[in-house]
Amino acid sequence: RMASPALLMRVVASAYSVAEKAATIVRNVMSAGDLGIVEKAGPNDLQTKADRLAQMSICASLARKFPKVTIIGEEDLPTDDVNEELIEDGHCEEILKNPCPAQYTRIKEEELVIWVDPLDGTKEYTEGLLDHVTVLIGIAYGGKAIAGIINQPYYNYEAGTGAVLGRTIWGVLGIGAFGFQLTEAPAGKHIIVTTRSHSSTLVNECISALNPDTVIRVGGAGNKVIQLIEGKASAYIFASPGCKKWDTCAPEAILHAVGGKITDIRGNSFQYNKEVKHMNSAGVLATLRNYEYYASRIPNTVKESLVP
Ligand code: AMP
Ligand code: MG
Ligand code: MG
Repeated sequence: RMASPALLMRVVASAYSVAEKAATIVRNVMSAGDLGIVEKAGPNDLQTKADRLAQMSICASLARKFPKVTIIGEEDLPTDDVNEELIEDGHCEEILKNPCPAQYTRIKEEELVIWVDPLDGTKEYTEGLLDHVTVLIGIAYGGKAIAGIINQPYYNYEAGTGAVLGRTIWGVLGIGAFGFQLTEAPAGKHIIVTTRSHSSTLVNECISALNPDTVIRVGGAGNKVIQLIEGKASAYIFASPGCKKWDTCAPEAILHAVGGKITDIRGNSFQYNKEVKHMNSAGVLATLRNYEYYASRIPNTVKESLVP
């Protein structure tokens, strides 16, 4: 008899299908046309019906299968009384074919924390910049991001009819990351990807100090890490508070699974235990390669302005 797969692999396999269901919800809300926009902290901090329904779907579906896992979602919503139509019960069989890395085979439900951003890039979603949007499910153990799913519901949407819309990227430390073509950014060029809708004097000051060849301004933490692993940008730099643990957990696991590195602007790694502060107060610095090049050029004045 085959032993049942390790908990971590079952969680990742289920989260893959749960993220695909959430992506369908995100597309359906947009095509129905009523976004139901609510301002949270202000006009640059929005929530739509898609954020709400996708979070309820993700959190309720995972909680039903893994009742003792801690699940922390971005949106402040009730977790009971979720419509059955929002529940996803499936899993990705391909993922279960991978053996669980030895250091993770004994993990128990109580030891996992799942960080959920049901819709990353909401501002861009409301403005029709649909390929900036991602669904993020990050899995942490011992305070570290060890596995993650990034679903891009509108991948290929400008390729027109015939192209398959949407994709799911997944990764586990010690296995790797899949669902995309790992590509390095052009050698010798400094292409920085940063925020589009949450800029500030400090954000721009930090980028100028790095003397980049190109600056790409796009929405979403998930989207920006995709730009790194597909070789479109060489560094993701955001010298500002604003980004939260649910924005970085899944992207971090995938980036680290392929040998990249993400920290705050001061070089501190992120912690993902359930008690941690949600805000990444000291910003974000991420690369697939050449982390030290960028880290060593961040001005001390910028570092000192950001308190972890
Ligand atoms: P961005 O690069 O601006 O798309 O930000 C990445 C993630 O951090 C998104 O989920 C944003 O909503 C969030 N974020 C960044 N800055 C802020 C801010 N000033 N207020 C609220 N959310 C923010
Ligand atoms: Mg987000
Ligand atoms: Mg969000």
